[in-house]
Amino acid sequence: MNKQYDYIIAGAGCAGMSLLMRMFVDPFFASKKILVVDADAKQQNDRTWCFWETKPDLFEPIVYHQWNKLDFYSDHYSSELSINPYTYKMIKGIDFYNYVKTSVSVSPNIEWRNTTVKRLIDHRFEIEASNELAGVELADGETIFAEYVFSSILFEPIKTKPSEYHFLQHFKGWEIKTAVDCFDSSRAVFMDFRVGQEAGTTFMYVLPTSSNTALVEYTLFTEELIEDEAYNIALEKYISETLQITEYEILHEEKGVIPMTTKPFPNAKGRHIFIGIAGGQAKASSGYAFKYIQKRTAGIVAAMKQGKHLAYGKGFQHAKGQLYDSVLLNVLHNRKMGGDAIFADIFKGMKASKVLAFLDNESNLWTDLKIMNTVPTRIFLPAALHELKQLM
Ligand SMILES: Cc1cc2nc3c(=O)[nH]c(=O)nc-3n(C[C@H](O)[C@H](O)[C@H](O)COP(=O)(O)OP(=O)(O)OC[C@H]3O[C@@H](n4cnc5c(N)ncnc54)[C@H](O)[C@@H]3O)c2cc1C
Repeated sequence: MNKQYDYIIAGAGCAGMSLLMRMFVDPFFASKKILVVDADAKQQNDRTWCFWETKPDLFEPIVYHQWNKLDFYSDHYSSELSINPYTYKMIKGIDFYNYVKTSVSVSPNIEWRNTTVKRLIDHRFEIEASNELAGVELADGETIFAEYVFSSILFEPIKTKPSEYHFLQHFKGWEIKTAVDCFDSSRAVFMDFRVGQEAGTTFMYVLPTSSNTALVEYTLFTEELIEDEAYNIALEKYISETLQITEYEILHEEKGVIPMTTKPFPNAKGRHIFIGIAGGQAKASSGYAFKYIQKRTAGIVAAMKQGKHLAYGKGFQHAKGQLYDSVLLNVLHNRKMGGDAIFADIFKGMKASKVLAFLDNESNLWTDLKIMNTVPTRIFLPAALHELKQLM
């Protein structure tokens, strides 16, 4: 069995293209032969990423808009969030795909195939006499081998054990253009919980990109999806009653589902390295994945340059973050407290910048303890003890 490429990137969405771009800009990878495979041509503006960071990263040139002021609303507590030193940023999916595809098009060593990956070929059983290769089988039955396969493909629906939680973060967003100017594009609404909470944790966010355009997104954390029409009704109601906008047109619509699960995802299996949601990079308690994907892909590039094997552990910060996520999902699953009241307590009791670091799994133990102190001990302590017991 011969190696045909140095690396195969299976799935060229956020994680696959982030990794590709990081390799492309690093001279270490200049002579590496890379095959990128995706079933989709990535020509649609299918998602908008928002994330916070303290300094510009690789995708700064395509940041579409950014905000230094974020607002939080709920029936329990409302306030402007103090996010300094973070900036909240937005990248449009289509800008991201086009930027990566155009940038790397000058490289003769990067090849694209627009086809389906049927399966990953497990080197331990299927590649004769070699631990040095990983492979993919494509839709037409062709098999291709490389030193590493980086896969962001979820080949099967996520199945959880009874002790694991599996919520869905699902949402519909409308990019609207209003007849008259009504937005302040220097501030965004991070979460507005002043909407019905019957289905579970439910909020709107509003991301103004000019005085008369904004992305308004209706978001839920629940274990079941809702009827499509329910998103439309909620968006119409919020735009007319809360934002008090009567005349607007919908420029673009986006819809999505992100897993929020405590199911552990392996980092790697032999020379198959898992990235993106398939590598567990969606934060179980928030659904945010973009920043985790950037950290993970930057970590992979650094490890490869140091000649380290890529099946490294996820580390203490990650394990700690996973425990906190499971405690939150435990409370939501058992309906001990609503997400609106939990986030209100946290943002009321803690500086928002510390909460953002916590959501990034980058807070220290002292901050973690202070954040835990903002929510009711009688609810969160039993949940924490239960989740700790699951780990033993
Ligand atoms: C609408 C939407 C909005 C989001 N907004 C945010 C946000 O604001 N902030 C944030 O942090 N996260 C956000 N997320 C979550 C997360 O960042 C994205 O889902 C992100 O795209 C995940 O990256 P990924 O590479 O794991 O998956 P994807 O980007 O979905 O990439 C997977 C790729 O694999 C390809 N593929 C799948 N199966 C096969 C196959 N068998 N063969 C070949 N190719 C295949 C797909 O075509 C796709 O291109 C959002 C998600 C959605 C859906």
